[in-house]
Amino acid sequence: MSWQQPLQSFGELSQHESMAAHTTLAVGGMATWYFKPHHKIALCQALSLIPDEIRILPLGRGSNLLVSDQGFKGMVIDLGMLNHVEIKGRTLTAQAGSRMSKLAQTAAKAGLSGLEFMATVPGDLGGGIAMNAGAFGQQASDTCLQVDIVHRHGNEETLSKQQLNMVYRHSQIPDQAIILAASFELLKGKAENILHAMRHMRQKRSQSQPLALPNCGSVFKNPEGDYAARLIEAVGLKGKCMGDAQISNVHANFIVNHGSASSDDIHALIALVQHSVFEKFAIHLEPEVRILESVQ
Ligand SMILES: Cc1cc2nc3c(=O)[nH]c(=O)nc-3n(C[C@H](O)[C@H](O)[C@H](O)COP(=O)(O)OP(=O)(O)OC[C@H]3O[C@@H](n4cnc5c(N)ncnc54)[C@H](O)[C@@H]3O)c2cc1C
Repeated sequence: MSWQQPLQSFGELSQHESMAAHTTLAVGGMATWYFKPHHKIALCQALSLIPDEIRILPLGRGSNLLVSDQGFKGMVIDLGMLNHVEIKGRTLTAQAGSRMSKLAQTAAKAGLSGLEFMATVPGDLGGGIAMNAGAFGQQASDTCLQVDIVHRHGNEETLSKQQLNMVYRHSQIPDQAIILAASFELLKGKAENILHAMRHMRQKRSQSQPLALPNCGSVFKNPEGDYAARLIEAVGLKGKCMGDAQISNVHANFIVNHGSASSDDIHALIALVQHSVFEKFAIHLEPEVRILESVQ
């Protein structure tokens, strides 16, 4: 019996799934396989059935992912069904597929502070841990206590944030491992103050970011002591287009898709920015967006 049939009892399995439909940039070719496990136990059991030669890609909201026009040769694992959240005392524990905005709201309503920034980051918790997401002076690693992962063949492990080496927009997740859940130790606060702070952050965002068009947030990490957006503006690339992709006129560290941009268009803009900024300032801008090449 092939491996596909038993896998279907653990979740929804499909073939040739368009990644443009699963990423906020709305670009990218087909994933060979796309699997959405029903729940955590189903995921852990399913992993041992997936042949070793198939590479897996854990997917949250796809809000920090640039997939090649040639697609992804492997299996995308969509964690959307793993979305349980609970609070005990000052500890919030959530599964990887929980929206970060939901975690921020849940914590705030319980009078717990530390996750306010998550109200403005459109990804899921797994992606937020993998990227060590942050904004407004907070980041996931500030309050993270521990992270549960499952390795490629289904064995689970709990890691401390120190073991994950969480630094600016990066965590060291073991190759092919999937984040299952994370817990955070939060501070007591007044719910109305926390909710007010979140509203203020959201308002600031809507004024300074091109949220009406498909994008992936900041394309480049800020180099130490400077801002990628400032450097991109300084080399005159704000507003620059390649096909239907454009360096946003609203925020120069965003690339927006006007409708039919390709992944290649976005790659070309990234390369142009890196080249121009290096030529003028001798600074290498490192992409923050995770770039997935088709060969992977
Ligand atoms: C409008 C906008 C604003 C944004 N603002 C911010 C911001 O202020 N701060 C910030 O940090 N980011 C920001 N981002 C980027 C993005 O939302 C974050 O990086 C977020 O953490 C990504 O979460 P995701 O679920 O979308 O991850 P995905 O894009 O699905 O995945 C990102 C990476 O994480 C890996 N991954 C995802 N889930 C798991 C898992 N369960 N286990 C292991 N690996 C996993 C993926 O394989 C991939 O390599 C913004 C994006 C947009 C579109």
